[in-house]
Amino acid sequence: NLNNAIEDKLKALEIATNNAGTSTGTQWYNSGASFVSSSPVDGAVISNVNETTSEEYDQVVIKAQQAFKEWRTMPAPLRGDIVRQFNDELRRLKEPLGKLVSYEMGKSLQEGLGEVQEMIDICDFAVGLSRQLHGLTMHSERPGHRMYEQYHPLGIVGIISAFNFPVAVWAWNSALAWVCGDVTIWKPSEKTPLTGIACQKIAARIFAKNNLPEGISCLINGDYKVGELMTKDERVPLISATGSTRMGKQVAQTVAGRLGKSLLELGGNNAIIVTPDSDLNMTVIGAVFGAVGTAGQRCTSTRRLIIHESIYEVVKESIVRAYNQLRIGNPLDENNHVGPLIDKEAVKMYLDALEKVEAQGGKILVEGGVLEGELYKSGCYVKPAIAEAENHYEIVQHETFAPILYMMKYSGGVENAIELQNGVRQGLSSAIMTNNLREAEHFLSVAGSDCGIANVNIGTSGAEIGGAFGGEKETGGGRESGSDAWKVYMRRQTNTINYTTQLPLAQGIKFDI
Ligand code: NAD
Repeated sequence: NLNNAIEDKLKALEIATNNAGTSTGTQWYNSGASFVSSSPVDGAVISNVNETTSEEYDQVVIKAQQAFKEWRTMPAPLRGDIVRQFNDELRRLKEPLGKLVSYEMGKSLQEGLGEVQEMIDICDFAVGLSRQLHGLTMHSERPGHRMYEQYHPLGIVGIISAFNFPVAVWAWNSALAWVCGDVTIWKPSEKTPLTGIACQKIAARIFAKNNLPEGISCLINGDYKVGELMTKDERVPLISATGSTRMGKQVAQTVAGRLGKSLLELGGNNAIIVTPDSDLNMTVIGAVFGAVGTAGQRCTSTRRLIIHESIYEVVKESIVRAYNQLRIGNPLDENNHVGPLIDKEAVKMYLDALEKVEAQGGKILVEGGVLEGELYKSGCYVKPAIAEAENHYEIVQHETFAPILYMMKYSGGVENAIELQNGVRQGLSSAIMTNNLREAEHFLSVAGSDCGIANVNIGTSGAEIGGAFGGEKETGGGRESGSDAWKVYMRRQTNTINYTTQLPLAQGIKFDI
């Protein structure tokens, strides 16, 4: 029985089946209306969670503001050590947390564990970073002057996350924000509140053990209305929001309206270009995993395959054959390739998209449909589908968060494929499969892919934490995770120090009194 299996995990994570939803650390608040967390795996209700009220939200912000005053004065390497301790806990709890992610969200157990591994990796990165938050020094034009720049924390970072990476996105943001000296308030997706509670409990224990104040890591819960409490709040200088483009447009406008900063990680419409010089085996694995992994619910999922006409039939047949081998079912069973969609609303969007692609002129190559029967009783299991389509169809231009792959042909040179690949409003992940150096370099050049992620001989899906992650155009332009993404969590200050007895002005201006 799945529920019994998960019961153990909840115990290991020290979460009860009835939980409050708002927390400043060890303190929990529960006066808001309750909503349920249910599993798309078997349709069972896992837990009740309380929505954050506006009064509770206010308490959280006040606690976070107070905590910031203390946390920001702790040397960054010591903050790094707190993140290291948090990471030790994540390593210890990887298995139960990974399983809860898998059960609450519906991704495969391997992917649930992989998500926790991503949290572990970003914490390792953040610990190293805590000794490297450096600015530049410059030469002053004035004698006896020294000029440099330094980075200071911003204050409260508001994190709004999506259901599909229920825990990793929080860790990407919070591990960096914490070493930078910021405090965080996290609103997880209302579809995955329980993994949020589990993470908050792990973090809170570490802060408390180190006698640090309440308010460094805070949790609020509920739908977009609770998110709006933060986006409208001038006390929250940075909002990092991950989710749909629709959400991002609203958040961006609200935050810009008060001249706050936003970091947006929004929808993708990712393509793989398959050239005549591609390796067929690698192409098939990359495309199929990219399209059906996490049931097509990754921001980097492969939505489009742009295949050269000379190899189109061969690639098509190989991929269709691979689709026929896919096993769909309980994601906690390692033999299955494809788990459920998040909920019935997602199933409806998937069915609508399949109808639309046909109505707009597409041809179905692998039939979709909803699976029925005892094993699929949550009503969220669907068959991954493939349609032959053209890039300009309205439905192809749109991100459908489900396992639907659109195949299309290109003719002539790689520049024609790149034009199709770039011919959508989103700009997250892109890939080319080729052994031809000229094609690969063209794809990566200024005239190549316009996405934030451009891969050669790798699919579109998944990324390592070491690089900056994010995309252009309607994907929102934000960058998270590795490289210098930390800079967005800090404010930059230029300092000039005069160690002489004179006061020369910049630009040689004379001002004698
Ligand atoms: P969603 O936009 O429905 O919700 C995301 C989060 O935003 C939720 O916590 C939700 O409550 C909140 N929210 C929604 N409207 C809001 C508003 N007006 N103000 C404040 N908060 C608001 O997205 P979803 O269905 O949970 O996730 C799927 C989407 O997320 C896909 O489009 C996917 O591509 C995208 N995504 C992008 C990335 C990335 O890094 N680019 C990563 C994961 C998911």
